Amino acid sequence: MALIVQKYGGSSVADAEAIKRVAQRIVAQKKAGYDVVVVVSAMGDTTDELLDLAQRVSPLPPGRELDMLLTAGERMSMALVAMAIGNLGYEARSFTGSQAGVITTGLHGNAKIIDVTPGRIREALSDGAICIVAGFQGVSQDTKDITTLGRGGSDTTAVALAAALEADACEIYSDVDGVFTADPRIVPTARRIPKISYEEMLEMAACGTKILHLRCVEYARRYGIPLHVRSSFSQKPGTWVVSEVEETEGMEQPIISGVAHDRSEAKITVVGVPDRVGEAAAIFKVLADAEINIDMIVQNVSAASTGRTDISFTLPASSGQTALSALKKIQDKVGFESLRYDDQIGKVSLVGAGMRSYPGVTARFFDSIASAGINIEMISTSEIRISVIVGQDDVDAAVAAAHTEFQLDAEQVEAVVYGGTGR
Ligand code: ASP
Ligand code: MG
Repeated sequence: MALIVQKYGGSSVADAEAIKRVAQRIVAQKKAGYDVVVVVSAMGDTTDELLDLAQRVSPLPPGRELDMLLTAGERMSMALVAMAIGNLGYEARSFTGSQAGVITTGLHGNAKIIDVTPGRIREALSDGAICIVAGFQGVSQDTKDITTLGRGGSDTTAVALAAALEADACEIYSDVDGVFTADPRIVPTARRIPKISYEEMLEMAACGTKILHLRCVEYARRYGIPLHVRSSFSQKPGTWVVSEVEETEGMEQPIISGVAHDRSEAKITVVGVPDRVGEAAAIFKVLADAEINIDMIVQNVSAASTGRTDISFTLPASSGQTALSALKKIQDKVGFESLRYDDQIGKVSLVGAGMRSYPGVTARFFDSIASAGINIEMISTSEIRISVIVGQDDVDAAVAAAHTEFQLDAEQVEAVVYGGTGR
């Protein structure tokens, strides 16, 4: 029998009514003759609320206990969805990540899936039950403690299960009708992307498009699992994320797939670094040791008069304080003058496989941003992406300008945001 894995995000299971609606959708698949495995996120803003609660009892909660707390959110959803399905006359069984065989590394808050051994899921399916699995969690191979996969990690749970169970499809349900050319909350005329390649989706996700968790897309690409991103609030066709987007006859693929943005980064400038062999290595070594992910890096030519240069880089703002204190420890050894920190920045990225074969994309992108009167602070590129750092207040305008420059605006408003508080 064909097997389908569905994942429902927080806003799709936000309250009792939403859960009943989702149960109907799940039962409809079962009635259509599919085996169904469902992965759920925590209800609405539960994860954020649990994080707030933890903060109120302890400024630095231990990772093990925080994971224990956060995974409770998904457990509430799984049990409620199973009950709602039961109420419709179908058998449903809920499973925690650990029970579903999601084995991870031991890094609390950001564990990686090492293996999936879904024996209990297979058993339940062969009994004819619908399986409901708590997303975003697993169990550490070494410590046997409960872990979480990082914010938004339920998508990754869904793809990992789809791969392990050799599912025929993996559907990711959220509160928007698929992947759009920009965040419809910023650009109301954003267009739905019917089909997008894994590599473009990876760049979009890495550059702040929150609709899919980055590791979920990496996983889907590695195992060749087509993803169908849809809204649980409508029956609209959504977006397919696939390996190759073939040219539709007579229709050229657009050069640019979309414009992504990210307000979660900060910028550190290491001022007055002596221009000697090994200084950059020393700086980035301490950051690596502190497990900080660096995004963009810019180093200028050193001024002839001083023999010193500045190195700027961006990182998640949440790692900002850790990075600053790690760097301060090596200030005397490296001999740099000072550190500057700015978390009022934003990143705007243009993504499109078509940019490989079209020259001039960079110039048009920069020109659109300049025409909006916005200053570019940093630039980085990949083969299919150009990103710029701008002031945080300029992000919306920069996204809109680039979106219009590359003719991505739809004639009519296509995007409906059905739910979610945007938290
Ligand atoms: N509930 C978790 C979060 O809000 C995981 C998820 O939604 O995928 O990040
Ligand atoms: Mg959530």
